[in-house]
Amino acid sequence: MRCGFCGHEFEEHEGNVGCKNCPMSSGCKMVKCPRCNYENPPEPALIKGLKKVFSAKKKTN
Ligand SMILES: [Zn+2]
Repeated sequence: MRCGFCGHEFEEHEGNVGCKNCPMSSGCKMVKCPRCNYENPPEPALIKGLKKVFSAKKKTN
């Protein structure tokens, strides 16, 4: 995913998970950028699927 603030690209698991101690039931799902600590909303599954399609096309070419 790409940070909406500084444009740094990182995997969701590389990001700092925002608030594990959040009072919300299981914590909110914001992902903090490892570079600037901006809280990004998690990338929707739909976007991930689209990326897979595009990367698959690149490989076949
Ligand atoms: Zn950032």
